[in-house]
Formats: sequence, structure tokens, C-alpha cells
Amino acid sequence: MLTHSDSILFDTFDHDHLWHPYTSTTNPLPTYKVRSAEGCTITLEDGTQLIEGMSSWWCAVHGYNHPVLNRAIEEQLQKMAHVMFGGLTHDPAIELGRLLLRLVPDNMQKIFYADSGSVAVEVALKMAVQYQYACGRPEKNNFVTIRSGYHGDTWNAMSVCDPVTGMHSLFGSALPVRHFVPAPQSRFDGVWDEHDIEPLRQTIEAHHRHLAALILEPIVQGAGGMRFYHPNYLREAEKLCRQYGLLLIFDEIATGFGRTGKLFAWEHAGVKPDIMCIGKALTGGYMTFSAVLTTDQVAGTISAHEPHAFMHGPTFMGNPMACAVAKASIELLLSYGWQEKVARIEEQMRRELAPARALPQVADVRVLGAIGVLETHQPVNMARMQRRFVEEGIWVRPFGRLVYIMPPFIIRPEELSRLTEGLLKIVAEPENYSE
Ligand code: PMP
Repeated sequence: MLTHSDSILFDTFDHDHLWHPYTSTTNPLPTYKVRSAEGCTITLEDGTQLIEGMSSWWCAVHGYNHPVLNRAIEEQLQKMAHVMFGGLTHDPAIELGRLLLRLVPDNMQKIFYADSGSVAVEVALKMAVQYQYACGRPEKNNFVTIRSGYHGDTWNAMSVCDPVTGMHSLFGSALPVRHFVPAPQSRFDGVWDEHDIEPLRQTIEAHHRHLAALILEPIVQGAGGMRFYHPNYLREAEKLCRQYGLLLIFDEIATGFGRTGKLFAWEHAGVKPDIMCIGKALTGGYMTFSAVLTTDQVAGTISAHEPHAFMHGPTFMGNPMACAVAKASIELLLSYGWQEKVARIEEQMRRELAPARALPQVADVRVLGAIGVLETHQPVNMARMQRRFVEEGIWVRPFGRLVYIMPPFIIRPEELSRLTEGLLKIVAEPENYSE
């Protein structure tokens, strides 16, 4: 049901013709029309100002309309918006690559640029299969992963998402069948339970002859459950992969660029993957772009065998504007003490979200880096709760039993307090839940 205030923000063409993420066309979830966005503020068509709690799904770490990032795009635009990457190269791609290699695990030496997070996951999975093929083990062509994971919306990315919470359950029968093991139960800051690794051990022992790789989101599982798990899981998983000839793929698309308190989440465990996917905050939220990084060993093995090439090459690979803004975004991140900013956000969220533990609606409160999660007992009524957040002047998009914030790193303490106060208030309202 649209209220008067929604109707101001509502666009008939949008309603009638534009499909929004994960919603219907005939009875869509409400959409709010945005006029502009600046810093941590989103301004709606009617002038309503919302404090941004989502960083546009993990991306906009520096906030919106940043002069440095704007300039990077504008300057690149004057030179060229795009050229194909087949047979051509350019400074933005080279300079970004140089910068990335300084920041990722030192075994990462080869970079494949791709279009989006989901495509990066597709590329990583193909790379693992082609690697095993090049090793003379073509039957090692399947994958194992952990439950509650999320890796994107394309076909093979969907196949490694949690079959239930990963949002793609209806496609189950059409997807390739992967091996799933229970998600680790030992919490990030809790005690390590060594039994946690047993299901993965058993599955790898039983099926390694057909497994190309283990793929997972290190430390923080995002859209599949917003869970933070123990670093020892990664250490044990790495040993199993080495023992049984599986590649280890880290999907750092959500966790990358400081969000968890480390520049990349692998650092929490000190475990280096064979293949790593990055995206989202890579361009500071300006453009869709991603990269898949791998070792000399993986890339060299693929290249040494027929067809002596990695069989992938998207049209917009290495887009110069995306590379230029990514380089500017990373330099900006490194220039302004992101670690202190994230640590301050973490400390403030821990303090200000703690009272939510006393609410009858709340099952768990967890904070890591610049991610704050309230897990509720009941699924939320997304449209209603979203509207209440807008009425409170904050932008928070809950789903399922998860109400969470991951603000831009530049958020001011008073803006963050508006977010946490709004969260506590709206989560406590019983009418914001599905029956
Ligand atoms: N992997 C992870 C961990 C993600 O969180 C997401 C996006 N939510 C993706 C992959 C897919 O990225 P994209 O939406 O850019 O395709």
C-alpha cells in the first residue's frame, strides 16, 4: 500500500516498466526516488534526507559524489571511455594492477579483470576447472562450499550459493549439483570447536577425485546469513585443500577493502588462497567492476597446456574508466587512515547496538569491522520496516531475519548514532514483522 509520502517519491513509469532487484512487477516492493547523493546522505525527490547505512550494498565506502573519484572518471573520459582489452592495453589497467598486487596476498601475481562480482565468481570457477584439466585431472570439475554462502546471481555463482538462504532455491533442479557442508559454527570471536571442520574433511575425503576447488567467503558470510566465523576454519580448510589437490577460492567481493577491519578478510587467518575474487568497493561504488587474482602456479599451469589460453574474455574487460576510478578509490582509502575509521565505527556500533540484545525481537547482535547485524527471531516485513526507516531519516534495507548496517567509512559519529538509534527503535516495533 502506498502512503501519501510514498506517492511523491513514486514514479509511474518505474512502477509499470522497471524491474527492481528481487521483487515482483505486479506488486513490487516500494521504491524511493533519489534526486542526489552526497557524502553519507541520500536525498529523495521530495527533499527527504536519509543517512546511508548500506554503502549501496557494500560499495560506496567513501560516500557519494566524492570529488577525487569524480575527477578520476572525468579525466579518463577525456582520454577514452573504453577500448577493447583483446590486443590493446592502457595505463589505467596497468596502474590499477600494480597497486592491487601491493595489497593482496603476495602469492597473487596474475589479474583477470571482469565486469561484476558474479562474473568474477564464474571466472574463478572456470579457472579452477581449467587448472585441473591442465593438470591432467579433467574429472576434478566440481566444487565444494559451505552453507549460508552467497556468491552472486549468475548460473554457476548461484550453484554455490546456499540452496535455501542463498535466494536461488527455486532454480535448484536446473543448477549443477555442488557439495555443501554445514557452515562453521565457531564464532569469529568465540572458542574454536575443532569438530567444525569435520563435515568438510569427510566430504573432501569422499569426493576429492571430482573436486576442483573449495569456494567460500572468508570470515564474513554476507547475503547468505551475515555470519562471522572463526579464522581456524580457514586454516584447517587450507590444509585439506593442499592435501587433496583442491584449489582454494576466496570470494572477497563483499569483505574486501577494509570492511571487516582488515584490508582483506584472509588477513584475519593468514591463509592465502589460490584464487581470489574482488569487486563491489573496488571502484568505491562508482561502477560495476571486479577482478580475479591468482598465482603464477595456477596461471602458468593453465597457460602451459592446450589451448594455452584461459577461455574467457568479456567485452568490457579492463574498462579504462572503471580501472581509473578503482585506482583513485584505493589510493583514497589508503590515504585517509581507513583502519582508524573502521575501528571507530566498530567500537561505536558495538556500544550503541548492544542494548538491542535486551529486545524480545532480537535473537543476536554481532559487529565486525564496519558491519553491524541484528538478527531477529521473526522475518521482517521488508516494505513496512523499510518505510519506517525512511520515516526515521535513515537508509537501511533489511531482509529475512537480518537487519544490518555497513555504513560508508567516512560516516561521522553523530550520523552513525542516528543509524543505530533508528535501528533499535524500528526493530522494537512489533508491527514491522511478517505474521
Ligand atoms: N560474492 C559476494 C560475496 C557478494 O556479496 C556478491 C554481491 N552481493 C557477489 C558475489 C555478486 O556480486 P555482483 O552483485 O556484483 O554480481
